Amino acid sequence: MKEIVPAPPAIVRNDYESVRELFAKNVVPSYGRFDLVLSHGAGSYLFDVTGKRYLDLGGGIAVCSLGHAHPAITGALVEQSRKLIHVSNLYFTEPQGRLAAELVQRIGPGKVFFCNSGAEANEGLFKLARKFGHAEGRFEILTAHHSFHGRTLAGIAATGQDKVKKGFEPMMPGFRHVPYNDLAAARAAISPATVAILIEGVQGEGGVTPATPEYLLGLRALCDEKKLLLLMDGVQCGHYRTGKFQSFQRILEGVPGGENFLPDGLSMAKSLGGGFPVGAFWLRAPYSDLLGPGTHGTTFGGTPLACAVALKILSVIEAEKLDENARTLGGGIKNELARLVETYPGVVKNARGLGFMLGLELAENIPAFAAREQPAALQFVNRLQAAGVLVIPAGTRVIRLLPALNLQPSEAAEGIAKIEELVKSLA
Ligand SMILES: *Cc1c(COP(=O)(O)O)cnc(C)c1O
Repeated sequence: MKEIVPAPPAIVRNDYESVRELFAKNVVPSYGRFDLVLSHGAGSYLFDVTGKRYLDLGGGIAVCSLGHAHPAITGALVEQSRKLIHVSNLYFTEPQGRLAAELVQRIGPGKVFFCNSGAEANEGLFKLARKFGHAEGRFEILTAHHSFHGRTLAGIAATGQDKVKKGFEPMMPGFRHVPYNDLAAARAAISPATVAILIEGVQGEGGVTPATPEYLLGLRALCDEKKLLLLMDGVQCGHYRTGKFQSFQRILEGVPGGENFLPDGLSMAKSLGGGFPVGAFWLRAPYSDLLGPGTHGTTFGGTPLACAVALKILSVIEAEKLDENARTLGGGIKNELARLVETYPGVVKNARGLGFMLGLELAENIPAFAAREQPAALQFVNRLQAAGVLVIPAGTRVIRLLPALNLQPSEAAEGIAKIEELVKSLA
């Protein structure tokens, strides 16, 4: 029979070298990647192309809320894709409306806009702030030193770290940075042009630093007094990672005056879709109607498919009480890390964080790392990877644990044991 379609390309052997070569030739080298080619996963385990198994305590950087290859996510993807994947935001669809209602119910009275990533969610908050201050000529947003808000042009201007800005100047105007957890500094920095303050409830990329209750309550009062919007970036610390839906709910738990706390805007992404790209921002009434028809939009935001997946993830978290798991098992891991800090002060200096957002700060000048120029965090992560555990560096001296919310106690114990083994070998 005559060929009516061209012959398929030769099968590429999906091994380590050939994948590396494809990247070297064809993929923009914007990431410093680890030396690892992954092929599949199951729960909190990942497998590389050589068949080696890794315990994943990085969770795809706080994304894989139900771990890898979760049947409920697969089921939601299959079921919804048989009905409807995309129609555009020219029309109404039920999943988007239902997901918005679920988010509003968990945060507070307001409304939700859907997009596709964390940076995009923050862009929406920046636009809201500009719109809010426009009539008075106010446009400036204060953000924190060591913050991270994404890689778009406004995102890098908002981010309080020079390394993301370098080479991309001039920065977009309208952002200034203030020390984190320093209320007096925020007050002193306010200018006639200031319109909003944006912070992470727990700084992630900056090294896992939670806001103090006093800071959150103080910023709320300050923003009310000066007619500023209080915006929070919950992209990494949100979605039950700290044990509550949003980090401020955990930080202010039991704090007098904390029960009524709400920001004016809140961005979400990462864990929301469990690996399927979906971002969102929530706006408190009355700001929730500021972005009227024609002012903001995105083609893919809130597709029925993305929203069906996000809805399914919320129902699994609820049914399996994974918020409690993050709180209690995360607390247990933190205690173990604190024990390492006590036992091996020459290697680890501090353990911090909430729930399943944990940071382990390495000591300065670890002799075993002196021979190489690589930052200590990178050397630590590489050695742990060789031992079969994946974690994520934050800055030069902190490693982050951002595991799936359904991490099992036995898996946590395995991770701790491997980390302790490594710490001990470095002591
Ligand atoms: C990851 C992250 C972002 C950016 O999200 P993307 O989906 O990568 O655009 C923004 N803010 C915080 C706090 C993050 O951790």
